[in-house]
Amino acid sequence: MAVTATPSTGTRILRRSPAPPSTAEADICVVGAGIAGVSAAVEAARLGRRVVLADAQPSLGGQAVNSIIGTFAGLYSNGENGFQLTRGIADDILRDLGAKGGLHYRHGPPHTTVLYDEVMLSRWVEETVRSSGIRVLLGAVMRDVSVQAGRIGRVEFATRYGDVRVEAQGFVDASGDAALAWMAGFPCREPEEPVYGSQMVVLENVDEAAMPSRAQLAERQGEKAPQYGMVRRDGFAFLFAGRGIALVNMTHVETPLEPFAASAASLEGKAQADKAVAFLRAEYPAAFGRARVRAYGQPGIRQTRWIKGLHHLTVAELRAGTRFPDAVARTAWAIELHTHAEGYIWEPFPPGHLHYVPFRSMVPEGAENLVAAGRCIDADNAALSSVRVMGPCIAMGYAAAHALDLAGSGSVRQIDIAALAARVAPNVSEEGPRARG
Ligand SMILES: Cc1cc2nc3c(=O)[nH]c(=O)nc-3n(C[C@H](O)[C@H](O)[C@H](O)COP(=O)(O)OP(=O)(O)OC[C@H]3O[C@@H](n4cnc5c(N)ncnc54)[C@H](O)[C@@H]3O)c2cc1C
Repeated sequence: MAVTATPSTGTRILRRSPAPPSTAEADICVVGAGIAGVSAAVEAARLGRRVVLADAQPSLGGQAVNSIIGTFAGLYSNGENGFQLTRGIADDILRDLGAKGGLHYRHGPPHTTVLYDEVMLSRWVEETVRSSGIRVLLGAVMRDVSVQAGRIGRVEFATRYGDVRVEAQGFVDASGDAALAWMAGFPCREPEEPVYGSQMVVLENVDEAAMPSRAQLAERQGEKAPQYGMVRRDGFAFLFAGRGIALVNMTHVETPLEPFAASAASLEGKAQADKAVAFLRAEYPAAFGRARVRAYGQPGIRQTRWIKGLHHLTVAELRAGTRFPDAVARTAWAIELHTHAEGYIWEPFPPGHLHYVPFRSMVPEGAENLVAAGRCIDADNAALSSVRVMGPCIAMGYAAAHALDLAGSGSVRQIDIAALAARVAPNVSEEGPRARG
């Protein structure tokens, strides 16, 4: 149908006048929308809380989506036919992505892991957050935090559309780098030696039938890495069966906190990834000769800065399977310590073994209304290398929401631990469904 109305000129002229930041109020503000932050935000919303979920990225999902980690680890107990250790959003993700063919189960030994389609996970996160009524603030980098007597009152974010102030009763630091705890002035830890990150790459057009085994690949990389200028000598590539897609994790890149160094490292990661692809193409032409890079993830960051909590979880406690009275998460994932440029330390646990994260490792020393969740909780390097995988990250997010819900306007240090234990029982005491697929 033709439109006959006179067109408007379509413009107006404005001049900026200084304006204070806009303000949002919430019960719980979650900083960081990775898997831990999404779990915390969704659970808090399900508890009826008003939630703001903020992230520096213009998208949700953190590393699980944007770094294309591609595999849920630490979600099942070890051994034949392990059971699911973490519920909450893990149940929904497994159900919904499974129904769409977006999952591929790999059964150990020693672990069951679940490969996922990262595009489907991204849309799952977006739709779940949207339908939960969570207010989302994207492209929002923290620039100021106000704290009084250990209580955070508000966090101020810079966004490309102006500054925003979020006032809340409770806060979750799910930034991965303890960015909120650090800005609030609480003590934090940094590693004395680098813990290397990795640049993930997704290859398409891989010939599945010709794919080398993980052991063959690692052995060949061990021999030939110097020839291709590769730093790491023991990486791996996982096949997403039936799709001709492989997820390549063959690089080791430092992940410094200094802004220019961090930016340079992200470029270094891609250069390393290209060398890995050249290695795969030349050494395994039948499998990778026609392969193309479908996507480079954003830098994969394992460990940078993390909180000093009320409890420093140790590798001895992991090995002993210490069951804390305030346990909120559990896993059987191996110690996976990336402290050497050329390789990593891998120490799997036997069938039946489980280890636990206490709530006190999520509470920054001196904080009243702040809980950390995900890869920035308090643990030594080796312990953190196990409990930061996505299964326990989901459980920690779940626990953070319940702890802040119980605390209300009070202190997270004074909540009823028995009440918290009852709420997190599905992630700590019960046997979930057996792995499918
Ligand atoms: C290369 C690599 C491979 C891995 N492989 C596996 C695997 O196979 N399986 C597995 O389960 N786990 C794996 N892990 C570990 C796991 O992916 C991470 O530990 C986990 O995803 C961390 O989730 P998170 O929510 O704690 O943090 P992240 O996913 O890092 O999310 C933190 C979010 O906080 C935001 N943020 C940070 N600072 C600020 C700020 N100042 N202001 C606002 N927002 C901010 C970030 O933008 C980010 O989105 C791997 C990790 C790496 C690096």
